[in-house]
Amino acid sequence: MVVLNPRMAPDSPVKELPKVKPMDQKRLAALGILTVRDLLLHLPFGWDRFGDPKQVSELQDGTLATIVGTIVRIAPRISKYKRLKLTQAALADDADDELNLVWFNMPWVAGQLHRGDQVAVAGMVKATRFGHFEMRNPHYELLDGRDGAGPKYIGGLMPKYHLVKGLTSKKLSGWVDAALPLADRLEDELPQDVRERHGLLPLSEAVRLGHKPETEDDWSEARRRMGFAELFELQAVFALMRASLAAEPAVPIPYRQDVIDAFKRGLGFELTTAQRRSMWEIFKDIAKPTPMNRLLNGDVGSGKTAVAAAGAAMAHAAGLQSVVMAPTEILARQHLHKFRAYLEQSFPGLTVELLVSSQSAAERRRVRAAAASGHCALVVGTHALIEEDVEFADLGLAVVDEQHRFGTRQRELLRAKGRGRPHFLAMPATPIPRTLALARYGEMSVSVIDELPPGRTPVETEVVAPDERDRAYELVRTQVREGRQAFVICPLIEESEKVVARSATAEFERLSKDVFPDLKMALIHGRLKEKDEVMARFVAGEIQVLVATAVVEVGVDVPNATVMMVEGADRFGLAQLHQFRGRVGRGAAESYCLLLADDPSEASVRRLELVTSIRDGFKLALEDMRLRGMGELLGARQHGMSDEAMQALERPALIDEIRAEVDRVRATDPGFDGHPLLKAAIIRRLEQTSIS
Ligand code: ADP
Ligand code: MG
Repeated sequence: MVVLNPRMAPDSPVKELPKVKPMDQKRLAALGILTVRDLLLHLPFGWDRFGDPKQVSELQDGTLATIVGTIVRIAPRISKYKRLKLTQAALADDADDELNLVWFNMPWVAGQLHRGDQVAVAGMVKATRFGHFEMRNPHYELLDGRDGAGPKYIGGLMPKYHLVKGLTSKKLSGWVDAALPLADRLEDELPQDVRERHGLLPLSEAVRLGHKPETEDDWSEARRRMGFAELFELQAVFALMRASLAAEPAVPIPYRQDVIDAFKRGLGFELTTAQRRSMWEIFKDIAKPTPMNRLLNGDVGSGKTAVAAAGAAMAHAAGLQSVVMAPTEILARQHLHKFRAYLEQSFPGLTVELLVSSQSAAERRRVRAAAASGHCALVVGTHALIEEDVEFADLGLAVVDEQHRFGTRQRELLRAKGRGRPHFLAMPATPIPRTLALARYGEMSVSVIDELPPGRTPVETEVVAPDERDRAYELVRTQVREGRQAFVICPLIEESEKVVARSATAEFERLSKDVFPDLKMALIHGRLKEKDEVMARFVAGEIQVLVATAVVEVGVDVPNATVMMVEGADRFGLAQLHQFRGRVGRGAAESYCLLLADDPSEASVRRLELVTSIRDGFKLALEDMRLRGMGELLGARQHGMSDEAMQALERPALIDEIRAEVDRVRATDPGFDGHPLLKAAIIRRLEQTSIS
C-alpha cells in the first residue's frame, strides 16, 4: 500500500504522486493532466478482458489471455526487416509449457525483465507454427516474489486509457491507484437537485467506479455522470459568455432592401433557400446594438462565402468595414477573388484588399493604410491580419473562415480590431451536427445551410483495397488523359511538420519516378515556401497531379480536378475525408474520390465505407461524432471534449435538458456565486481548456 503524503490534495500537481518522473509529468500534461484531480477525472475509455490467469496448454488462437510464469529466455534483437528493435522472450508456466513473447520497438523491456523473473503477461494469443503460441507487445508485470501473489495491475479487466507516447495504461493505472484515496475529497460541482433529477452518481463515487468498476453498469454510469458534468460546466461557461457579450455595445448595421437587391443581381446565381434564411438571421442580428456572435454551419460547398459577402455588403452600406480571416494563404487568395466577384461589380465604391505575409512590405503598407483610412471596405487575409499592426477606421463585421484552425486568442485579437465589438461570424470547415454545435459552441447562435446549390454531380466514392492500388493509378491516368487533374493526399502523420514534409516528399518522388513518370506532377506541403505558386500552377492546369499533405483540406476550388486519391484514409476523421471529397466535383464533369487504407482491417474498411454511402455532410459528421464517442479513435479529443461527453451527446435531447438545467440555476443565481463549487469548476475549465 502506497502511503500518500498527507499534504496531498486534489489540486496537488501530479509530480507529487509516487513514481511520476519529470518526463511522465510532461507526458501527462500533453493529455491535459496537470493535477491529481485531472488524473482522477481521466477515466478509461474501455477495457480489455484478459480474464484470470490460464495455463499455456489452455490457450486459444485469437483470444485475450493472462499467463503467470517464469522468464526462461530474454534477449534484445534487431530485425533485418525494417530494422525494428525487438525484444524476444519465452515464459514457462508451472507445467513448463512455454509461451513466446515479442515486443516491437520497446527496447527497455529487455532491461526490465530478466531470466528467472516471475511475471504476468496479458495480451492477444497468436498461434505460430509447430503448435506454439505467441503474444506480441503483451502487457507485463513483474510479480514481487511473494508466493502465490497474482498480478496487481494486469490481467482480468485491464483499463484502456487515452495515452500519449511513452505512457502505458499500466503506468496510468498505478498512479490512479495511488491517487484514488483522494477521490473522497473531490467536491461535487453538480448541484444536488440536478444530480437527483438525472439520476447521476456523486463525483467521488463516479471516479472510484469509473476506474475500478465491478460491473459493466458501474463503468457506464460513471461515464454518464462525467459526461453530463462536463457538458453542464461547458453550458454554464457559455451562458456567462453570452451574458457578457449581450452587455457590450456594438454599432448596429441597419437592414437595407436596396443593398440586398443589388447584391443578388450581381451574384450570377440564385441563392438557395437555406442561404437566404441564414442571410436573414445575420441581418436581424447585426441590426441590433449588441454584437452578433454567430456560427454559419453548412456543408462543404454549400456557399457560406456568399452569405458572408452579403453581410459585408450590408456593413459597407452602413459605412462600416469588414474583415475575413482564413487559415492559409491559398484560401485567403481564393476568398479575395470570390469576394471581389460577388461584390465589386454591384457596389462600385466597395474595394476588397488582401493581406498575407508573403506580400512585399510596400504592398502590405499600402493595404494597412487603406484599412486604417477607411478606404477599403473589406480586407481578406491570414494570421497576418492579427500579427501585423493592422488597424481599421471603423470595423463593423469580423468573419473567421475554417474557424477550428484558430484559437480563442486569435479570434479575440481579430475582434479587438473594432472600436467597439464588431459583429462576429464564424464558418466551420465541415458541418457540425446540431447537438455538437450546441455542446461545443454554445456561446454562439447558429445558422444552418442544409442544402447544396443545385446542379452538383455527386462524387463517385470508393474504398480501394491495397492490392488494387494500380487500378486507382489507372483511373488517375485516364482522367489526366482526358485533360483533368488529380490530387493525391498523403497520410496524416502525427509528428512534426518536418516529418510530414519528408514523407510527402518521398511519396512524391516515388510517384513521379515509378508510377507517373510521364505526367506533370508537383508537391505541396505546409513547409513549402512556394505553396501559392504551386497552387496557382495547379489552378492554371499546368500541373496534372498534385501530391499534397492535408493543406489542401482547406477549401481550395479547382473545377478541373476530378480525382481525389487519399492515402492512409483510415487515419483521417470522416468529416475530414468528406472535406477532401468536396475539393473535387466542383465542375460539371464526373469526379472520383478514392480512399486507400493502410489498415485493411474490417472495422477500418467499414468506417471508410460510411463515406461512400453517406453524401450528406451533416449525417457523416453525426456518424463521426458517434465513433469518436466510442473513444478508441485517434484524435478523439479533437473536438475539445472527452469521449464521455461525446457519448452522452448521442442522446440528442440531453443537450437541451442540460441547457434547461443551467437556465434553472441561473434564474436565481445568474453569476453562479451561490454555487461556489460549480463556479470553481467553471473557472478551472476556462483556465485549462481554451474554449475555442
Ligand atoms: P463553402 O460553404 O464550402 O465555403 P463556397 O462558398 O466556397 O462553399 O461555395 C462553393 C461554390 O459554390 C463557389 O464556387 C460558389 O460561388 C458557388 N455557389 C455558392 N452559392 C451558390 C448558389 N446558390 N448557386 C450556385 N452556386 C453557388
Ligand atoms: Mg469555404
